[in-house]
Order: sequence, then structure tokens, then C-alpha cells
Amino acid sequence: MILNEDQLAIRDLARRFARDRLAPDYQAREAAGVMDRKLIREMGDLGLLGADLPEKFGGLGVPGVTAGVIAEELAFGDFNISAVPVGVSLLGAILMGSATPAIAEQWVPRMISGEALMGICVTEPSGGSDAANLKLRCRRAGEFYVLNGEKTSITFADSADAFIVFARTGSPDSGAAGITAMIVSADTPGIARTRFDDVGSRIIGRGSVFFEDVRVPIENRLGAENQGFTHVMRGFDYSRALIALQCVGCAQASLDEAWEYTTTRTTFGVPIAQYQGVTFPLVEGESLLAAVRQLSYHALALRYAGQPHTAEVAMVKWLGPKTAFDVIHQCLLTFGHYGWSKDLPHQQRLRDVMGLEIGDGTAGIMKLIVARERVGRVAVQYTKR
Ligand SMILES: Cc1cc2nc3c(=O)[nH]c(=O)nc-3n(C[C@H](O)[C@H](O)[C@H](O)COP(=O)(O)OP(=O)(O)OC[C@H]3O[C@@H](n4cnc5c(N)ncnc54)[C@H](O)[C@@H]3O)c2cc1C
Repeated sequence: MILNEDQLAIRDLARRFARDRLAPDYQAREAAGVMDRKLIREMGDLGLLGADLPEKFGGLGVPGVTAGVIAEELAFGDFNISAVPVGVSLLGAILMGSATPAIAEQWVPRMISGEALMGICVTEPSGGSDAANLKLRCRRAGEFYVLNGEKTSITFADSADAFIVFARTGSPDSGAAGITAMIVSADTPGIARTRFDDVGSRIIGRGSVFFEDVRVPIENRLGAENQGFTHVMRGFDYSRALIALQCVGCAQASLDEAWEYTTTRTTFGVPIAQYQGVTFPLVEGESLLAAVRQLSYHALALRYAGQPHTAEVAMVKWLGPKTAFDVIHQCLLTFGHYGWSKDLPHQQRLRDVMGLEIGDGTAGIMKLIVARERVGRVAVQYTKR
């Protein structure tokens, strides 16, 4: 992807921020396990959140490719912090496309400035892959919806100021055609939240959100009743490409450090850079990351041009996290016993990128999407036993 001058300027800004402000405390932040809201506001002040959203809401109105550049650069310094701009871009776009102007005005500028964090509640204890089968109960009571049930595995569960919630307004067997999406303020009475003890990405505070007779004004609905799923889920084609770029940025950090190490570490009297057994796996990593990076930016460019891109984003959503994991693993080994210590960040990066082999859709589901794009719905129709 050849970046223009504006994109290069934003890349340099994000790169400086990632290296100076994020990288030095990446592991300390994760050990503390708390999202640093002051840091998020700093990113908002710099224009690094929701840069692709319109200027009238406080964004920069730049193309999605530029949002990808920001995600990649920030992830180089702190993979987990880079989840914030990705969330703002995804959820901000959903709100602008589906919320009333008043609701969009209430939330989007505060997300872009870094004052408000928003989560999205799709997954339930009974499953995440078969999302159209979700069950969160929702009944109408005058000018309100009333929610009861549990959403689980929700990013920012314990820190979000609001959630986009998907609930069943149709009959139990209505599938995707019976789901309504709405925005629910986190301080609404009847909401309780928990936090999981995760393998990585602890600062995003994944957990469950419980709803007990939670009353949500009708005007908080996103799109039409029963049409929340098909309408809103289209946004995921965007975030999946951004996630792949987060993974690329994170793995590139390990690769750069590994290359440097090969020139300073000596064995048998020579730098280990002289052994092709050391350098070739790193070259393979560079090659795979370059391929994922280019396909991710290509997918974002296709989206911006209004051309089909669902298969491309599904490809990079499974290939990106997996490639990043494999590359970081190889880098960790390059450092020998030092790599196996928590003093170095490779183990942290490994655990962090692994989460996105699951979050936002697993590899199995991404491959189903690609197959469906190639041969149609026959690829996803099952005979139930
Ligand atoms: C870090 C992280 C962040 C997350 N953030 C959010 C969030 O903010 N909001 C939210 O709603 N959810 C979130 N999730 C949940 C995530 O979207 C789900 O975990 C995911 O969709 C898979 O659902 P599941 O865990 O219920 O697995 P299941 O659906 O039970 O699947 C179990 C396994 O079976 C495989 N599988 C299932 N069906 C098929 C099939 N048809 N073909 C092939 N393989 C199949 C899956 O790939 C998986 O390996 C997050 C998860 C993680 C790890």
C-alpha cells in the first residue's frame, strides 16, 4: 500500500506515540490490568481515535486505510491499547449508520475524544459463533424495551460507559430476522458486570454483563426492530481488517527486536545473524506479515471504493492473528532463554494476539464466510441432528 502525504503524517504521529508513550509501559499496564483512561484521552486529543469518522463529530474524516495505519502503528507499542481506536471506528460507524442523530451526537464525539468507552454485546453463554441464534430476552413495555439475561465475553465489560446490545425481539426461532440492536448506558439500573481472569489482554477487562429488567428507551434502538442483526453486523467487515493490522503491528515489533538481537548475540564466535537457521525463519515471518499487511490494506481500500470485500477481510481475520502468533513465537525462540522470561515482551504479545484468534469470530467461522462467498449458502446450511 503506497501511503499519501497525509497518511504518512498520521503514521509518523502514531508511530512516535506508540514508541514513546505506549511501548515503555506495555507490560506494566497489562500487569496492572486496568485500562488507562488518561492515556486514551491523550490519544483522543491527538486525533488517533475514530480518525475515519466525520469531522462534524470530531474525527478527521480520513479513509479506512488511514484507520488501519493507526491500528498497526499503535499495536507496535501496545497491542491492547490499539483495541481502543478499532472499537471507536467500528462502533462509531455503526452509531452513525443506525442511531438517531440525537443518540449519535450524544456518544460519538465523546468516543472520539476518548472520554467515553463503548462495548458491543453479541456473545452469550450458549455461544458466540452462531450469533444469529442469540437469546437475550427483550419485551416491549410502552416506550421502553426491557432486557433480561446475560451477555458474556464482552470487551470493556467492566469499564464501558455504554454497550451496543443485541437482543431477541422476535420469536425464539426467528433467527437473524428477530434481533434488535440498541444502545444501553452502563449506568442503567439492573445492569451488573463481572471481569474474567484472562490469559492476555487483561486491560480490556473482558467479562459478563447481566441484565435484570433493564429498561431501555425505544429511541435508543439502532435501525428498525428485528433488523438489528443484518444491519449492524455488516460493520464487522471493517473491524476485521483493522484487527489483522493490529496483529501485524504487534508481530512486527517482535521481529524488529529479533533482527537487532541477531547482530549482537554471538555463539561459536560469530553473530547468530550468520546462521541461516536463525535468519530464514525471521525472513519467512517478514514475508507472511507483508502479505497479510497488503491484503488487509487492500480490503480496506476495496471497502472505501464501495467494492465487495467480505472474503478478503475474513481471510485476513483468520490469517492475521495466526501468523502473528507464529511469528512472535519464532522471535521468542530467537532470544533463547531470555525470550522465555517475562522481562521481554514476546510472551505478552503471544498471549495478547491469541485472544483475537477467537474474539470477533474464530478462524473456523472466517473460513465459512470465505466458502459462502465462493459457493453461496450451501456452504453454511447444516442438517441438525
Ligand atoms: C479477546 C476476546 C474478546 C471478545 N470480545 C467480545 C465482545 O466485545 N463482544 C462479544 O459479543 N463477544 C466477544 N468475544 C466473544 C467471541 O466473539 C466469541 O468467543 C466467538 O465468536 C466464538 O464463540 P464461542 O466462544 O461461544 O465459541 P463457539 O461458538 O462455542 O465455538 C467453539 C469452537 O467451535 C468452532 N466452531 C463453531 N461452529 C463452527 C462451524 N460451523 N464450523 C467450524 N467451526 C466451528 C469455533 O471456531 C470454536 O473453535 C470476545 C472473545 C475474546 C476471546
